[in-house]
Amino acid sequence: MPLPMNHEPLKNFLLLLFCTFYPAWTIAQTDDSLAVAKFYNEALASHEAYENLQYLCSNIGGRLCGSPQSAEAVGWTKSLMERTGADTVYLQEVMVPHWVRGERETAQIMSEVSGTIPVRVCALGGSVGTGRVGLAGQMIEVSHMDALRALGSEVTGKIIFFNRPADQRFVNTFRSYSSAVDQRVSGAAEAALLGAAGVVVRAVTTAFDTVPHTGITRYEKDGKNIPAVAISTKDADILSDLLKKDPELRFFFRTTCGWKPDELSHNVIGEFRGSQFPDEFITIGGHLDSWDLGEGAHDDGAGCIQSIEVLRLFKALNIVPRHTIRVVMFMDEEISQSGSKAYAERALEKKEKHFLALEADRGGFTPFGFSIDVPDSLFNLISKYRVLFEPYGADRFTRGGSGPDIWRLKEQGALVAGLVVDSQRYFDYHHSAKDTFDKVNRRELQLGSAAMAAFVYLLDKDDGLR
Ligand SMILES: [Zn+2]
Repeated sequence: MPLPMNHEPLKNFLLLLFCTFYPAWTIAQTDDSLAVAKFYNEALASHEAYENLQYLCSNIGGRLCGSPQSAEAVGWTKSLMERTGADTVYLQEVMVPHWVRGERETAQIMSEVSGTIPVRVCALGGSVGTGRVGLAGQMIEVSHMDALRALGSEVTGKIIFFNRPADQRFVNTFRSYSSAVDQRVSGAAEAALLGAAGVVVRAVTTAFDTVPHTGITRYEKDGKNIPAVAISTKDADILSDLLKKDPELRFFFRTTCGWKPDELSHNVIGEFRGSQFPDEFITIGGHLDSWDLGEGAHDDGAGCIQSIEVLRLFKALNIVPRHTIRVVMFMDEEISQSGSKAYAERALEKKEKHFLALEADRGGFTPFGFSIDVPDSLFNLISKYRVLFEPYGADRFTRGGSGPDIWRLKEQGALVAGLVVDSQRYFDYHHSAKDTFDKVNRRELQLGSAAMAAFVYLLDKDDGLR
């Protein structure tokens, strides 16, 4: 048996050659990938963000703007950011609309053919109530606004049932949602113009279950306000079948929701002062308010907690950003976006320079990458970092919208982007009683935190983007 050859001198020589002539840009890439790995390692090993989200969901719960819970969430996130090591934490005043759900909604189908069948409904956000006696009437099912308008005076005094399902053929469920959400947002206003008494809307979700989903409905400014509720996708199918058997059936629902005077509320802002450009800002945020039926776990407790976690990750890794990082808990995304408007207005008034804004408001699921809204030349520059996210599956950098709370900062010169995540389960929970902490996976949440922190880290130090 021959003795093994000694390769050591040759190996050492090759290593020396490699280190001497390896291009500098590759070394830089390696430094970046090491930094990215550190963010992921720290995030994945930590339970802090997950526990913070649990507190927000379980101890504070659903937090509609104007509610006592939203005020509690303001105070709690302020102290959380202080504990996390922000240099300054302050509240930014904003007047918010205040809608209340009132007593638990009731509804039933009343048919001479099928009898009386109770169904679960929830008032749409912003809806007026029926009053204590409730509202009963004959029902007309429609699937499109055009079909509604074609009915003309037939609509008068009826309850309109909008039953167009979300188009399931899209892989991106945000597109499915968009294919049906018009019924919820403007169905009541359109039906009211024709003299309808109320509306029932098929829940705007990609799920097929028995849970109604709420969300804002908007009336015409000078139009009549009529009560509006959502019904689950399964119950909508049952109701549609019953209507075919008995077109005369009557629907009853009772809601006591309505508007209260506007309330003073706050955006919560925590700053981590930049070393080189302290007066130039990187805004990272989510919205602190949520609908009241669940706990606002995915929408958008996750995005808020991930944004605070970015701050913790920088601190844990002893990294000081060059620009000042501002973590912002935006108030009132769900009803009128008054928080993000106030934030952008104050930024403009103070002539603040905003370098970058990153939003997380698509649920705390496995991140796929970023939707980036910047000019072409900058998109190409940012795209060079894509490769660094490949090992983590978060390397889809696409051109697209950033998010409802930060897009305005684009007009002020900021690069704006949104964290993009696996969207398949988001609308199962969105705006419903199912949006609770137990639906959030710690690892998925933290993959998002790490992706956000790494993205901010890389762009913060890139002079080519300034
Ligand atoms: Zn949201």
